[in-house]
Amino acid sequence: MPAQCGGVVNSTLSPTEPDNQEGDIECPGAVAGNGPQASNSYNHLDNKMAGPTQPGPPGRHLGHYPSLPPGYQNTSVPHATPPIHPAMQAATQPYTQAPQPYQQPPGGLGPAQLSPSLAAMSLQSSTPEALRVVNLLQERNLLPPAPVPAPTPCLTQDLQKLNCSPEVFRSTLTSIPQTQSLLNKAKMPLGLLLHPFKDLSQLPVVTSSTIVRCRFCRTYINPFVSFLDQRRWKCNLCYRVNDVPEEFMYNPVSRSYGEPHKRPEVQNATIEFIAPSEYMLRPPQPAVYLFVLDVSHNAVETGYLNVFCQSLLDNINSLPGDSRTKVGFITFDSTIHFYNLQEGLSQPQMLIVSDIEDIFLPTPDSLLVNLNESKELVQDLLKSLPNLFEKTMETQSALGSALQAAFKLLSPTGGRMSVFQTQLPNLGVGALQSREDPNQRASAKDIQHLAPATDFYKKLALDCSSQQVAVDLFLLSAQYCDLASLGCISRYSAGSVYYYPSYHHQHNPAQVERFQKDLKRYLTRKIGFEAVMRIRCTKGLSIHTFHGNFFVRSTDLLSLPNVNPDAGFAVQMSIEENLDDMQVVSFQAALLYTSSKGERRIRVHTLCLPVVNSLSDIFAGADVQAITGLLACMAVDRSVTASLSDARDAMTNAAIDSLMSYRQSVLTIQQPGLLVPACLRLFPLYILALLKQKAFRTGTSTRLDDRVFAMLQLKYQPLAYAMLMIHPALYRVDDLTDEGALNINERTIPQPRLLQLSVEKLSREGAFLMDAGIVMYLWIGRNCHSNFLTQVLGVPNYAAVPDNLYLLPELDTAESQRTRAFIGWLRDQRPFFPSLHIIRDESQLKASFMQNMIEDRTESALSYYEFLLHLQQQISK
Ligand SMILES: [Zn+2]
Repeated sequence: MPAQCGGVVNSTLSPTEPDNQEGDIECPGAVAGNGPQASNSYNHLDNKMAGPTQPGPPGRHLGHYPSLPPGYQNTSVPHATPPIHPAMQAATQPYTQAPQPYQQPPGGLGPAQLSPSLAAMSLQSSTPEALRVVNLLQERNLLPPAPVPAPTPCLTQDLQKLNCSPEVFRSTLTSIPQTQSLLNKAKMPLGLLLHPFKDLSQLPVVTSSTIVRCRFCRTYINPFVSFLDQRRWKCNLCYRVNDVPEEFMYNPVSRSYGEPHKRPEVQNATIEFIAPSEYMLRPPQPAVYLFVLDVSHNAVETGYLNVFCQSLLDNINSLPGDSRTKVGFITFDSTIHFYNLQEGLSQPQMLIVSDIEDIFLPTPDSLLVNLNESKELVQDLLKSLPNLFEKTMETQSALGSALQAAFKLLSPTGGRMSVFQTQLPNLGVGALQSREDPNQRASAKDIQHLAPATDFYKKLALDCSSQQVAVDLFLLSAQYCDLASLGCISRYSAGSVYYYPSYHHQHNPAQVERFQKDLKRYLTRKIGFEAVMRIRCTKGLSIHTFHGNFFVRSTDLLSLPNVNPDAGFAVQMSIEENLDDMQVVSFQAALLYTSSKGERRIRVHTLCLPVVNSLSDIFAGADVQAITGLLACMAVDRSVTASLSDARDAMTNAAIDSLMSYRQSVLTIQQPGLLVPACLRLFPLYILALLKQKAFRTGTSTRLDDRVFAMLQLKYQPLAYAMLMIHPALYRVDDLTDEGALNINERTIPQPRLLQLSVEKLSREGAFLMDAGIVMYLWIGRNCHSNFLTQVLGVPNYAAVPDNLYLLPELDTAESQRTRAFIGWLRDQRPFFPSLHIIRDESQLKASFMQNMIEDRTESALSYYEFLLHLQQQISK
């Protein structure tokens, strides 16, 4: 570093260095597997609906509804809605003025130097398209041909260019209301959705002896601060003025002096710092992995142990870590078994502790061992474990004691506990009893037992959290396991839950494949230890309710003993003080963690949004997917604290209230119909989809664990994946062409258009792919073209399509290549592995496929059209 740089001695910087320090950069081509979602619950689905009763209307009860066939498009609208000529409709639109040009910042100044008043756009420039009036009772083909993109906040191009990616950070309202009363009027939830540790292909990483933060509110310097001059900057969260430190005057990228606004910290809304020692409470912990394995008779029957041991053997050199990495193993049935893996032993030594009431560690120092030093012993153990319990007749499960033992073992260091469980724990502390009455699955008015049966798992999770231990739960079971109780162990310790219902090594190959792929991703993905996340926002805004897996340590500090790249979070916000003088507000999430290489790092994301003072501007900025995702999180909480029917009503009312507000306060000209702004045109559909989602549906047989798992997922999945669970994507795939295809790494990826979820869109001559997140269905029509059958499925005719087919044959035909390329591409875009089920009309799984036809009426739920009528009646009351 040149001496004239005024005291800067150790700034090094690699602004566009891929974040490969963990050795696990995101690799779009690699199938990754973190797929904790209920997929094929077909073994448990009663293929009958809940009796031929007239479906009750959701939410506010109004009595009788006309029952319509699913394909209402073909029937006349049974409502006194005079059709509006398109020309007339256009004439009645209140927002027809031409968009104003964006205000240009003064020449030569970066956006960080703009004063806030120049930063926001004028109100007239709100996107007219977002507010185009849509009559849902008339316009039917509302789904865009491709997945819905996040709306772009109404900011100057220069600010927007610097803004955080919506994949990492987005708000339900991309225009923030100036006051809480305005927000109350809009009747839309205000909140943030985050995917803070997402795998990124490009991440600027900064090493600096001084991390520049506001000395009043501790905000990290970011692209949305303003520089008063070269020596002073104004914080965009608390508006107080700070000095620019001497070191910051030098820009290591341009190697120039005196341009603080060009530093990468003020050029990147997502950035990572390597933290100096003041960010450490103790020396950074090593990567520590403890595996806790159910080896009861039931577990051995499923055959999971083979897959687990083989996966860990295959990936043992790819576990994130360094020379300090430690591993350990505990197995359990009615007793707890430890493994002495101390370097120098000729083989692993098994130590059995049968006193499960007062658990102790037999040889505390040799149970968690250095992976490099004891690698051969570990490999020996993994090779012999499956055989060790092959003949066991032990049926009991002392999971609670095993978790206590594991906690004791990990407490001194912190680390990750991976628990594999295959049945209801029935012995010792934490023992559970079955609470599910299968006969009530479809008929119950309200769903019981969504809350935990005991606080044992939550308490243990909080103990874990305080010792920097996170617990990931892999539940592989055919039977009820009380996930509502067991899940607490991961939820409060910032772990993840993976669920493989009816896992069996022979009977369920699709689950086995999913488990294998998920394990590979799980074992090799990036991990952060002893993490905390804080979310700050501009003065006047306040964050109050958090969703995701964590423990709230103090009002805005989330304790995350582990953080993984596949975890999402959401927070609700309120407006405490009027934002009168502000043109923009900012939100900053800072995640402090220890990398698997023992570095203390801080990943910072900053999002900037405009403040508006009219309802129409608020509506124009509504992010319908983010709103849906946040409402889903709120509804999960409501289901547990109040009741499922309360939660369902709340979701329906959210649609009614916001659209009523729009109609009463934004629409200038009243006209008949169900009128919504274009940006919310999918809102009623998404709400109906939530009501029919496994988490919230009623009247359809749903296993309690499946329901609870869906709820956990809605709270924990990043929005993009949650949306697939809520509203699956449907494509016709028997006529894929290269027209409009993507070309990625010399592979041609066809891009069929999205279809509405209605049987009306199906055709017996076709084949249709439904992508529901962790599960995909390929439905083959009875009269499917023989070309598809022979060229893609490799069978001569429909009757020859085998049952339980879950793999597409690799045929050397253009059709086969296109279909596999498309499915592979869909899979590559998520960190978990969706299983594929190829189904015919006769297949058991057809019911699961059909249940996702959200727009259609079932015996227990309204069709989309009926739901729209219900909303309309409520709104025009
Ligand atoms: Zn500040």
